[in-house]
Amino acid sequence: MPPKIPFLDLRITSADERRELLAAVEQVFLHGRLVLGPEVAELEGKVAARCQRAHAVGVNSGSDALYLALRALDIGPGDEVITTPLSFVATANAIALTGATPVFGDIADDLTLDPASVEPLITARTKALLPVHYAGKVADMFALQAIAQRRNLLLVEDAAQAFTARYHDRPAGSFGELACFSMNSMKVFASLGEAGMVVCDRPELAARLEALRYNGLVNREVCAEPGPNGRLDTLHAAMLLRRLDWVDALIARRREIAARYNAALSDVVGVPREAPHQHDVCYVYAIRTPRRDELLDYLSGEGVEAKLRDRILMPDQPAYRGKTVAECPRARRLVPTLLCLPAHEGLTDAQVDTVAAAVRAFFERG
Ligand SMILES: *Cc1c(COP(=O)(O)O)cnc(C)c1O
Repeated sequence: MPPKIPFLDLRITSADERRELLAAVEQVFLHGRLVLGPEVAELEGKVAARCQRAHAVGVNSGSDALYLALRALDIGPGDEVITTPLSFVATANAIALTGATPVFGDIADDLTLDPASVEPLITARTKALLPVHYAGKVADMFALQAIAQRRNLLLVEDAAQAFTARYHDRPAGSFGELACFSMNSMKVFASLGEAGMVVCDRPELAARLEALRYNGLVNREVCAEPGPNGRLDTLHAAMLLRRLDWVDALIARRREIAARYNAALSDVVGVPREAPHQHDVCYVYAIRTPRRDELLDYLSGEGVEAKLRDRILMPDQPAYRGKTVAECPRARRLVPTLLCLPAHEGLTDAQVDTVAAAVRAFFERG
């Protein structure tokens, strides 16, 4: 039986939304510039502006965005990049695919990279820091910027989950030398399929990324360095441009849902907190309870599809286990208590209340 309340619903049920998206892709059918077409350039300009950046380079996924960003900074074999243990594994993979070694710090209580865990891991090989704005919350960027400056390290943001999230009134993606976004269909700002973006200020970095994203070609013929084919399809850019007009309303709704859950649940489980200097985009809504596994089963029986996200820490993946440094006691303690509730913008208040009531009923039952 399908769940009464699914974790995510990627169908486009609004006829208006379908019509608008179809009109946007129809324009692409008419001009026929299917890869890096005019909609890509327009989207790049608008995303750069939202991130308070000079440049944005459209790519075909968040994973490629990260890999190409690290390549553009000359990160490679012999280098170490310090990152968080808690992310989608694409974060660590991007580091490893350049030939560099991912080194894993710990998370702070807010689930983002703890700056205090970073400094002891810095070695002569450390080249960059790669924090993740986990669950749509910007990491402690002022502290990380200070470490990067003091220790002469590059700073790159994995902002895949955090488009338009803010920290001290500055947007995600405005802090590092480069910042990377994913616009895959599950993200808050999402296309219907795979898409990504890198943002930066330095024109030479943007030019390098533009070559790297297409086989390292600096013009039609000349290949300056090896690169993948990671260009952005025009169809995705066309849909993303349409959705860019809707993203603020969508995030406002996600924040409402998170607040509604917080009000209903904070006396029975740990709930996500937002400091006054933070403005989260609520990519996931994760509660904390030592009875996480029992609660997951109970909710499933009640027709509520909750999920475990990133249950296996990146350093514990077979790809990385035993092969690198990982100092993450807090992540090992916290992550087994995390449970993500359905929190997408399509939920009604009544559905949110149903989920919250089911969580409460589990604890009241004892
Ligand atoms: C989604 C995601 C990625 C990868 O993006 P794709 O577009 O799926 O390749 C990288 N890092 C984080 C934190 C993500 O959530």
